[in-house]
Amino acid sequence: MHYKTWWRYGNANVEKHARRGFGKGRREVRIKVVGHPGGNSSNCVKRARLKVEKVIGRLLKPSEVIHHVNRDSQDDRNENLVACENQSYHMLLHCKERLTS
Ligand SMILES: [Zn+2]
Repeated sequence: MHYKTWWRYGNANVEKHARRGFGKGRREVRIKVVGHPGGNSSNCVKRARLKVEKVIGRLLKPSEVIHHVNRDSQDDRNENLVACENQSYHMLLHCKERLTS
């Protein structure tokens, strides 16, 4: 899927193109999106980032991190995602979770 296509047609396409990662553990779901500025060398972008970008209407900076509220990294429902401005803020969220749970 081309990045521009995803941007135009939204989340439905994101779900359809989702591929579960191989290997053990629940890893974040990545989607092949050609032309996305945040993609890696094989044009894969984390689905969580795509969804957040769609909601906030802009691209995430590479420094911004998506936190999964219920810690399930494959649960990319909007209500489970929190955008953190950087990794240290993300870690702060995890510390707070440890203190409150
Ligand atoms: Zn997190």
